[in-house]
Formats: sequence, structure tokens, C-alpha cells
Amino acid sequence: MVTEKIDSVNPVKSSKKTVKRIKPSIRREAIAAADYNRYVLPFSCEECSHFSTEKLACTLGLYSTPHLEKNQRHDYELSGQMALCRFQEID
Ligand code: SF4
Repeated sequence: MVTEKIDSVNPVKSSKKTVKRIKPSIRREAIAAADYNRYVLPFSCEECSHFSTEKLACTLGLYSTPHLEKNQRHDYELSGQMALCRFQEID
């Protein structure tokens, strides 16, 4: 007698590959309020070497809106978190 195992999670295997979802690359990080008040933390595009103040955009072509100072402060006041940019460079 031949018994066939049936996968209860995925009984029918599909031949189509699912398209990989694009996930947001921005991760917000929690910053302790004591550190926020004690240190001068560079956290915004306006403090970055790659920011064009004329165009109000990142010269590397990154999406800068979440990293603008106004938005960073707003997010921090609401959630205690900031979207720190990994490419931020300070002279
Ligand atoms: S590198 Fe990051 S912090 Fe610097 S301007 Fe571009 S998006 Fe803003």
C-alpha cells in the first residue's frame, strides 16, 4: 500500500514563483530621551554633507523626506524613534 504525504500547510504546490515584495528600507531606531537631550546628535539631512540646500534633496539620490530635520523631530516627539540614515556624512 502506497501512502502519500499531504502537506497540510501547502497542499497544492504552485509552479509560479511569487514576486518578492519590496520592503521599506527605512528602519526607525529608538533613542533614549536622556541621550537626545544630553548629546548633539547629527540626525538630519540638513547636517549631512550630501544634502543640497538649494534643491532640498540628497545629492546621492536617496529619499530624504523622512530624514529632514522637521520630520525627524516630529517622529521623535511622537514615537521616540528616528529614521537615521546610514549614508549620513558630517564634515
Ligand atoms: S545621505 Fe542620507 S542624510 Fe545625507 S542627504 Fe542623503 S538622505 Fe539625507
